[in-house]
Amino acid sequence: MQNDHEFSGKSILITGAASGIGAACVQFLAQRGASRLILTDIDPRALAALDLPCETSRIAGDVADPAHWEDVSASLGELDHAVLNAGIADGSPITELDFADWRRVLSTNLDGAFLSLAAAMRAIKEGGSIVLTASVSGMKAEPGTAAYGCSKAGVLQLARVAAKEAAPRRVRVNAIAPGGVDTPIWDQTPFFQDLVTEHGGDRQAALDAMAAMATPLGRYATSAEIAGQVAFLLSDAAATITGTALVSDGGYSL
Ligand code: NAD
Repeated sequence: MQNDHEFSGKSILITGAASGIGAACVQFLAQRGASRLILTDIDPRALAALDLPCETSRIAGDVADPAHWEDVSASLGELDHAVLNAGIADGSPITELDFADWRRVLSTNLDGAFLSLAAAMRAIKEGGSIVLTASVSGMKAEPGTAAYGCSKAGVLQLARVAAKEAAPRRVRVNAIAPGGVDTPIWDQTPFFQDLVTEHGGDRQAALDAMAAMATPLGRYATSAEIAGQVAFLLSDAAATITGTALVSDGGYSL
């Protein structure tokens, strides 16, 4: 389905590029020939530490800050693809969720998706493609996912609306909806911190136990697997797919 030169000569924007799924997408696309990567993240050190073989622009800033997008837009030029992936989590139940935390998650995940999508849609070439990182938490209710789940439900709807608005220029917009992926984002949620404690501080054992319990396939995805699935949605192999969400959750949401 994908060849080693699938993204040869392509110019690609990736947000949340410094860690986890975003960093895996950066490596995957660079290895398959991308010639210019515009990488953004709130963590300047981790962004600077990415070791890459192609031309990169690295712009540190808050995905939810309109001024950051003025800076990024000045460097975008014409884009072939965009992976709009920056996000944070929170696992508090509604009765314990501070309004400030609700706003922080909605702002980063949904305002950030809107601002990055608007910038990407303005810069993208005819025939280009965009993937937003949503989550199965935007489709399925679980305790403790009010802020995160609402933000990701919004991302799924943004992808659908954008797909219709961009279609006249043959630009495709899709979402990836992972279930669990082993990345540092889990450490932001109180229930995972409790689970790690229950497993005597063994983070991997906690993740494996959660995956075994929650997913019919018995495991979570790796960031590299999600990156390959994002690349599929970006690529011509998905030429007739737009406005959809690719669920990659080991069967969790069935
Ligand atoms: P991660 O924490 O490893 O990566 C998130 C990246 O986003 C980090 O580099 C972080 O610095 C950056 N970021 C956070 N806040 C930002 C901000 N305000 N402005 C700019 N950058 C910011 O986590 P991840 O799992 O790789 O998360 C990537 C995306 O995948 C997120 O949107 C997340 O919601 C989604 N997701 C993750 C999982 C999972 O289980 N890991 C499941 C479903 C969806």
